[in-house]
Amino acid sequence: MLSETLNSQYYIELEEKHGAHNYHPLPVVLSKGEGVYVWDVEGKRYYDFLSAYSAVNQGHCHPKLVQTLQEQAAKLSLTSRAFYNDVLGEFEAYITNLFGYEKVLPMNTGAEAVETAIKLCRRWAYDVKGIEKDKAQIVVCRDNFHGRTTTIISFSNDPDSFGGFGPYVSNAFISIPYNDTQAIEKVLSENPNIAGFLVEPIQGEAGVNTPDEGYLANCFALCKKYNVLFIADEIQTGLARTGKMLCCDHENVRPDMLILGKALSGGMYPVSAVLCDDEIMLTIQPGQHGSTYGGNPLACKIAIEALEILQEEKLADNAEEMGAYFRQKLENIHSPLLKTIRGKGLLNAIVINHTNPEAAWEMCMRFKEEGLLAKPTHGDKIRLAPPLCINKAQIDESITIIGKVLTEFVK
Ligand SMILES: *Cc1c(COP(=O)(O)O)cnc(C)c1O
Repeated sequence: MLSETLNSQYYIELEEKHGAHNYHPLPVVLSKGEGVYVWDVEGKRYYDFLSAYSAVNQGHCHPKLVQTLQEQAAKLSLTSRAFYNDVLGEFEAYITNLFGYEKVLPMNTGAEAVETAIKLCRRWAYDVKGIEKDKAQIVVCRDNFHGRTTTIISFSNDPDSFGGFGPYVSNAFISIPYNDTQAIEKVLSENPNIAGFLVEPIQGEAGVNTPDEGYLANCFALCKKYNVLFIADEIQTGLARTGKMLCCDHENVRPDMLILGKALSGGMYPVSAVLCDDEIMLTIQPGQHGSTYGGNPLACKIAIEALEILQEEKLADNAEEMGAYFRQKLENIHSPLLKTIRGKGLLNAIVINHTNPEAAWEMCMRFKEEGLLAKPTHGDKIRLAPPLCINKAQIDESITIIGKVLTEFVK
């Protein structure tokens, strides 16, 4: 049994020794997942309250996704876009029909889809809006998270994200406060070179910053007024996470450009996409943008199935219902450590009231011991976002763990 007790430490040291140190994981080594649960190499079971940053909305190792992956992988996995394949068109028809856009451009990771949206926005600025060459600017929000490329980190204000990676892309992005309608009105009215407004409907990484009701609808109306593209990064908020298929649906906003990723594959494979209409999408001509893996048949089959599951299992409705129930149960905990509870659907966070800056981390360590995995984000915030297939009994059990830790926590 010696090997069993050494298991976790062995894998942690292996990563420490041979891998880049660009993450600070909780010390748990996972080897199996099913639905809302994951198991570590010692066989201990946990509730997964991170869901791979909302990539596994459909639950871990959904049997239909596993089957789809196996079948398509054995048939055809990659052709590149030098040739047509018999799945890409089916996926394009499916997703554009589902979200109501004329076109889609498939990529792999979220950051690539954000980069694609930025490129499309600029082409639209020059070819359609008529902004002078190289003058187009895009408005973003403070505390944003849109990915890790050099362009994207240029407009991050998180020192961990951008620090030491300069020189930065300058004059291309204008940062304004989030959840501030006056700030966007001011910048749009004063600057004719603005082509787009890139926004997260809820800022996930920043700690589930949930804007006031009406913010998205007001921003959208202002974008229309000033002929600026409203670009929604729904990589984390989309695909049923917040209780609707898209978070923008809560305010009946149809973004000019919609960016999806993460749960677009239910955690099976990296799949991302940008959706928009012809006026924007057709500004990019053959040979002007692409990706070797983008739109590969394996990704496309998985994405169709992942979207099917969200609808078949009514995961948006479940997220709405379970989310409300979860927040109500959290409110009932009445711990002085619980400063704030916020979120929508099953994208939630608590803010910890504690003088110890490590309190949120230590609390997550205690959650882990009790069988629940969550990760602090930006110091004192803990995101609580289980797979969307979670049921009431599982919420109750999770609340028991969270309540126990919050009540006992003193350090
Ligand atoms: C995760 C995330 C990204 C980046 O996605 P990657 O697949 O990690 O590149 C971009 N935007 C938002 C809102 C995200 O949550």
